[in-house]
Amino acid sequence: MKTILAALLLLTSLSLIAQDNLPQDYFDSPLQIPIILSGSFGELRSNHFHSGLDIKTQQVEGIPIYAPADGYISRIKVAHYGYGKALYINHPNGYSTVYAHLKEYAGDIEDFVKKTQYEKETFEVELFPEATQLTVKKGDLIGYTGNTGSSGGPHLHYEIRDSASRPMNPMLFGVDVPDIKNPIITTLMAYPLEKNAIVNGSKDPIKLRLILQKDGSYTTEKVIANGKIGFGINTVDQMNGASNKNGVYQIKTNYNGEEKVDIRFERFSFSETRYLNRYIDYNSYKVNRDRVQKLFREPNNPLSIFKYENDKGIIEVEDGFSSIFNIDVIDFKGNTTSVSIPIEGKLIEISEEKTIDESLEFVQSDEPTTINKGKFTIFIPKKALYEDTYLSITTSGDTLHFHEDVVPVHKNISVSLNIDNYVGADKSKLFIARLNYRGDPYYNSTRRRGNVLTAYTRTLGDYALVADTTAPKMSAVNFTEGKWISSNKTLEIKIDDDLSGISSYRATINGKFILMEYNYKKDVLTYDFDDAIISETENNLKLIVTDNVGNSSTFEAQFFRKQL
Ligand SMILES: [Zn+2]
Repeated sequence: MKTILAALLLLTSLSLIAQDNLPQDYFDSPLQIPIILSGSFGELRSNHFHSGLDIKTQQVEGIPIYAPADGYISRIKVAHYGYGKALYINHPNGYSTVYAHLKEYAGDIEDFVKKTQYEKETFEVELFPEATQLTVKKGDLIGYTGNTGSSGGPHLHYEIRDSASRPMNPMLFGVDVPDIKNPIITTLMAYPLEKNAIVNGSKDPIKLRLILQKDGSYTTEKVIANGKIGFGINTVDQMNGASNKNGVYQIKTNYNGEEKVDIRFERFSFSETRYLNRYIDYNSYKVNRDRVQKLFREPNNPLSIFKYENDKGIIEVEDGFSSIFNIDVIDFKGNTTSVSIPIEGKLIEISEEKTIDESLEFVQSDEPTTINKGKFTIFIPKKALYEDTYLSITTSGDTLHFHEDVVPVHKNISVSLNIDNYVGADKSKLFIARLNYRGDPYYNSTRRRGNVLTAYTRTLGDYALVADTTAPKMSAVNFTEGKWISSNKTLEIKIDDDLSGISSYRATINGKFILMEYNYKKDVLTYDFDDAIISETENNLKLIVTDNVGNSSTFEAQFFRKQL
């Protein structure tokens, strides 16, 4: 028995990433400024774990990025959302590095991207250059930091991926970020995990009060419990020189000295990242904005961040026994904050059983489910929900109340509606909108087959049939109709759609396609005169913008420009 246990322990420790086995001096820093992070690897984000480091760029754009090692540009993606302007380098040691939210690319790379954009007459492009096409040497300038795509401020998103394209913690490769601050723990929760389990008189998850000790660690008042229970915490880490609340590196638990779980943010695959919603207490996050990490593994949680687990991290508290549960939260530099929870096992009978509202729909996780309600048909695929759940689903005319966004959804659920009998606005302008907490509609991607509209969503909440009959609006930002603008470096136009949102745009000057960059955060399209598409003095701009249900409008303007 002992040898089996020892062998198991050995296997477990082998699966951990020994830092010494990874190249430590291979990747130079991609920036020649001090590395201060606004985001760490594995940090908990909306529906995903953060796949890289967010490096602060001193509140400005345009800081040069240098290749951290030899390699070749293997992929370039330009998108309005997500990573914005992104660059991927393959390195001969099998790893790849990724740079996102760039302002622009450098030299040959920028030329190659522009050439393709003009050939395809589109801003959004994705390119996979040959290995010999755009090679880089360590230290070569590859681009400039920016704030493109879904970025909330100037920074560089930097990733290191393994040969299977799984993002890894760049700090394991020697990225050094000074940090002498201990992790912060803000919330401690206890979870009864079987029918008769109970914590402090509650069968529902319950918050435990943290009591700060002189040495900086925490304890709690004695927890009275019985049956299978688990714990969860909300924790962040701060580093030197910044107030940003980043993710921690490791969380370990033990029960009476026996290790229960070892969770490490070292590597994960993109196919598992959405299971973050299973890992956190989704309800607590949505209701209280409290991101509690559950330190035990539930069914339908395949996350590989659990490097070790004993009984899935769950403990069984027995009547009459006293015990201690410990949690250690550790940052990459080893700074640790601990919680020690004294537990007393006491069998307490709670008589009242929870009554279940008869009007709720019971949805089994393991079965596909179709629900018809009013004008709507909902299809929930197998394993779309992580566990069997009672959902509140009601309709009122063209509005569907589909529970609330307090239950995580893993796979797309379809919401369909037949508009055969719809009277009112033009049927072609209808879409299924999601309603925000104020009841205001916003666009949900809607497919149309004949007179059946279908929206796909992974968010529960309110949906409604809405018509968008208003075309996008455009206006000049930095020029005036009929005037001279010889000194302008750019041409900027504001574009806006009141309801379904911008779907596409196309601009020409004197009939020739011009590349315009869409900044959705500022609702602005920008043309750069350096592209040198026009050579005439008198110029006629034509811009067509289309919204998500097909309303389009045309903006025309004339301007004059001195040509050499
Ligand atoms: Zn990032």
